[in-house]
Amino acid sequence: MPHKTDIKSLNYNELVQYVESINEKKFRAAQLYSWMHEKLAESYDEMTNISDKLKNTLKEDTLYTSLKIVKMQESRIDGTRKYLFELYDGNLIESVFMKYHHGNSVCISSQVGCKMGCRFCASTLNGCVRNLLPSEMLDQIYRISRDTNERVSNVVIMGSGEPMDNYDNVIKFIELLNSERGLNISQRNITVSTCGIVPKIKELADLKLQITLAISLHAPNDELRKTMMPIANKYSIAEIMDACRYYLDKTGRRISFEYSLVKGVNDTKECANELIELVKGLNCHINLIPVNPIKERDYEQSEKNSIKNFRDMLERKGINATVRREMGRDIDGACGQLRQNHIDENSAI
Ligand code: SAH
Repeated sequence: MPHKTDIKSLNYNELVQYVESINEKKFRAAQLYSWMHEKLAESYDEMTNISDKLKNTLKEDTLYTSLKIVKMQESRIDGTRKYLFELYDGNLIESVFMKYHHGNSVCISSQVGCKMGCRFCASTLNGCVRNLLPSEMLDQIYRISRDTNERVSNVVIMGSGEPMDNYDNVIKFIELLNSERGLNISQRNITVSTCGIVPKIKELADLKLQITLAISLHAPNDELRKTMMPIANKYSIAEIMDACRYYLDKTGRRISFEYSLVKGVNDTKECANELIELVKGLNCHINLIPVNPIKERDYEQSEKNSIKNFRDMLERKGINATVRREMGRDIDGACGQLRQNHIDENSAI
């Protein structure tokens, strides 16, 4: 953790307090906030109405995070862009920019690596290095907005890391992202995805935000889920479903379930039937994701036919299910793959 004040993680009121604590006038806070969160300045040097004297004080006293683009890959198929960024301390993270008919979406990372250990996921191969600061989550969106010159309307916290394992920073990030003085991205356009950390889901529900909660389910029973996701040893599916009902009750928001289809593992008719039983009567949507195979693991993607059958079985029972369009297939699309490949390439030397 930095000892300096992490200035971009302060909300407006905190920034006012900070500015006053260094004996500056309150209006400086409005100027600084606007430079950071509206104009998306990457350093104090860009701030033309701030005096050199104040800039120097700020440079000494604060951490002004910004990201360096290490690599950017753009899909020739659909314009998806995958970024590998370097943080102020040299750690690497990745983020994805996706163009949809309803607007542009950015998928951000919430940690450097991840400690959850899901069997199919590349983000977790080297464990979790550290939590991201709220500022570093914002920076991913700010840097991409500037780089693409496009407005970002949706944010999904579905990149590397487990957001409920970095709860306080994620909540602060959402507050800043949603702020009228910043990008003002509506809570309804923000999705947070979790592998199912039950106490945190309940804590989140109590905040009554209008964000979408996505649960990485991936299996309809605990036995199978344990073979795919170590967190299943800690929280049962029954406890997760309880937490989901609690969330729905508190927020009125429909729950999203992610279900990555793995050939011969969780794509059978029996699994589909179990899943139907599990979510029956719950206001939810199921996102079927053809698993994106990573070379470190032996999971294979389900056949086109099994995917279609699985979806049809859910639909026939009136359960909302869509197969996630695979974006950026040609550019290391799976979570954590770009970073992992970069680490591998550089450690091979
Ligand atoms: N830790 C959070 C968010 C990050 S992952 C969570 O578990 O939800 C975002 C989603 O992608 C999760 O549903 C995750 O299980 C899934 N995922 C990760 N690697 C994948 C892969 N190789 N193929 C398909 N889905 C994957």
